[in-house]
Amino acid sequence: MTDDTTRDGGGPAGANGANDQPDMTRERARTERRDLDKERGEPVAGGIARGGPRALRSTTKPLGDWSTRPKILITNDDGVESRGLLALKQALEPIGDTTVVAPDTNQSAVGHQKTLMRPLRVRERTLADGSIAYSVDGSPTDAVSIAFLGYFGHGFDLVASGINYGANLGDDITYSGTVSAAMEAVINGCPAFAISQEYYEHPDFTLAALAASAVARNILEHGLSRGELVNVNVPAVTPEECEGFEVTRLGRRVYQDQLIERLDPRGIPYFWIGGPPPSGLAVEGTDFHAIVNRRISITPIHLDLTGRRLLKRLRTWDWALPASEADTSASGGATNDHRDTEDGDHG
Ligand code: MN
Repeated sequence: MTDDTTRDGGGPAGANGANDQPDMTRERARTERRDLDKERGEPVAGGIARGGPRALRSTTKPLGDWSTRPKILITNDDGVESRGLLALKQALEPIGDTTVVAPDTNQSAVGHQKTLMRPLRVRERTLADGSIAYSVDGSPTDAVSIAFLGYFGHGFDLVASGINYGANLGDDITYSGTVSAAMEAVINGCPAFAISQEYYEHPDFTLAALAASAVARNILEHGLSRGELVNVNVPAVTPEECEGFEVTRLGRRVYQDQLIERLDPRGIPYFWIGGPPPSGLAVEGTDFHAIVNRRISITPIHLDLTGRRLLKRLRTWDWALPASEADTSASGGATNDHRDTEDGDHG
């Protein structure tokens, strides 16, 4: 526990200004631990030996001025056989050269999972339109990782993830494999967006495909800064019924999950996380509000998850370590008795 409190330049509040450099001794120790796993026969990922550049930065100019067509990586979390993936690829083909790599099975709600403790297999697949795609027996993040670790031998100008079957609004993005794939691209220095289609029984991706094209064009022409991605949600309406785009902030999901207990054939209980679909608070300016009002929601996301208000409060807390056993007996009892007494504001 001592290690964790000191790692992030902790120590007493106010004394951490000079501690911006990473602790390289600790970083090396971490790397060595990963090598140990390798020696046990658990390779980190395939394709690394093929090398190739990492992501290219977007050059941000009108598409007509690009000297080569943009390279666009297409992925998702619903799996390589999803019609939403095909719709996204077909929507972006007129804009750039597309490469499709996606999980081989449905990986919805796996979040930002990365597979490090078993090997990954990449397989060549044929999509419904006859084009070639690649599947990975891992997560959406694994699919993006193998691309940026050199599997295709070149970088990408844009990563598009989706079209997800079901919206990713508000708190959903903390679970979403669709959004995590875009986050993985951003971590690799490549602009990215995630696009999700509000659920309806027989999904029609016509509007979402048009939205994807508009978003891709805008990102390629304007660029994104480090750490930024765009989360897009499309209402379940036709292009004629749609009320256009709205730039939004994340709203708040209201989950209605229930723990559903059943008995297996041997009489032993098992559990499902089930219940009615989640709702959300349609507060004006949020992604929920836009979708409810038939608008395509465009939400900027930043990977810097630092809680700015909490940062200030944490610096006012007492961060002295408790006295160790030896100190306690020597000094006859330590006096670290300060506690935080404000508990009203959890903002
Ligand atoms: Mn999904």
